[in-house]
Amino acid sequence: MGLFTSTPMPEPVGDSAPPVDEHPSRIATVLNHLRRSADARITHPRRFRVQQLRALEKMLEEHLDDFLQALNDDLGKSPTEAKFAEVDVVRAEIDFALRHLAEWMDSTGVKVPLALQPAIAKIEPRPLGVVLILGAWNYPLQLVLAPLVAAIAAGNAAVIKPSELAPATSGALAKFLPLYLDERVFAVIEGGVDTATELLAARWDHIFYTGSERVAKIVAMAAAKHLTPTTLELGGKSPAVVDNHSPATAKRLAYAKFMNAGQTCVAPDYILCIGDAAPLISRLTQAITSFYGKEPITHQDFGRIASRQHFDRLLAMMEQGEVVAGGEYDEETLRIAPTIMRNVSLDGTLMTEEIFGPILPIVEVKTFEEALEFIAQRPSPLAAYLMSESPRLQSIFSDRVRAGAIVHNAPLAQMVIPTLPFGGVGASGTGSYHGKHGFDRLSQMRSELNKTTVVDTLSAIYPPYSWAKRKIIDRLL
Ligand code: NAD
Repeated sequence: MGLFTSTPMPEPVGDSAPPVDEHPSRIATVLNHLRRSADARITHPRRFRVQQLRALEKMLEEHLDDFLQALNDDLGKSPTEAKFAEVDVVRAEIDFALRHLAEWMDSTGVKVPLALQPAIAKIEPRPLGVVLILGAWNYPLQLVLAPLVAAIAAGNAAVIKPSELAPATSGALAKFLPLYLDERVFAVIEGGVDTATELLAARWDHIFYTGSERVAKIVAMAAAKHLTPTTLELGGKSPAVVDNHSPATAKRLAYAKFMNAGQTCVAPDYILCIGDAAPLISRLTQAITSFYGKEPITHQDFGRIASRQHFDRLLAMMEQGEVVAGGEYDEETLRIAPTIMRNVSLDGTLMTEEIFGPILPIVEVKTFEEALEFIAQRPSPLAAYLMSESPRLQSIFSDRVRAGAIVHNAPLAQMVIPTLPFGGVGASGTGSYHGKHGFDRLSQMRSELNKTTVVDTLSAIYPPYSWAKRKIIDRLL
């Protein structure tokens, strides 16, 4: 039995001595093992990183059906959507890391000031140590495995704790990861708030958290006790300003909003429509029907809400304005049809909290300037979308709006470009990842300087500081 088990106590790994504590908790046992192996630097060599990344890829290949089934059990995700939005995203991250790892790991030489020459100075990316990865339930596979790719690439050991609100995916990860990754340095620990709390009390070298702003504050406070750096991948209300009401605009917005039943951190949360919203509403409605038919709550490609609590929260939001399309729901299957609302209250939860469900409120504004003001008065979102072909409006939008990402006309598409950093700003998060950004985030950029003593050029600046030496120092430094 390995470290990846979900409930029973794991056996000690390898031939190393048992943990110091006489009655350590399971988590303490796992961490002791990981810490020892990480201290032995087994994760450092490039060969090891490459081998682990390949093993992760192999797991996704060989257990694709198991993961797709788990994602369907947890969220009713269609296999097609689950494959490209979860599995393929992780595989793309792995492939990109494998192709660029050697270059990312390379040290970078820097210029040495005249006063210190001759010498060699360089920046060397070094592993941080042991990383804790806490994931959210909405993309329960991608949100733990994509950070894990970054952790492996950067040469770290890692513990992942998938969300307890996606138990089938969490169970599948706990079952299959140990069959592929090196258990001495990678572990899956399953559990809910109690487990997360116990994990957070331990000392880590980095905590990578994806989830809500509320829990992020708990994570940050726990991390502060050990001065542990954190990456906080949060959410917020990502606005979509609509200037161009074309059918393509409506389709792109409907697609981005209703994928995964609206439970996507970068989904357009609400629309700010410049002018009358009636034509846009009609096109959005057509787009929804063309995607999910006349009865979306029974359509196999339309997902369900993760829990009863979220379902009830969303139904309460539907009371806060006029439902102009959709509105149907099924309490048994926890499905809510793609719903469009207008004339909404700006003070209710619909417009003050992240919706995270298939409800799309439309707020009409008279001018582009009014839309910019509306966004500026609210916390910085993870993404801000502008649907407009006007280069002038695009330029003003990019200049004035503060968000994790600015996207013109292609909501969600920013996610699949591995060279773009993915992360928030202000209330939507701290730090970013994907591709090299993830590697850098989970590395220490260490300074290294090497200067020979054979020729002691530094003697020119040693005390006592005579007039002549002061002149030399002034000139050199
Ligand atoms: P969640 O409830 O699954 O929680 C996330 C993690 O926090 C889980 O591992 C959970 O066990 C842990 N947790 C929950 N309560 C805790 C507590 N009191 N103490 C310690 N740990 C605790 O997910 P959520 O918080 O509902 O996630 C939804 C939010 O995540 C939304 O705001 C969404 O926008 C955001 N999100 C962001 C991204 C991103 O990449 N930026 C991606 C997905 C979701």
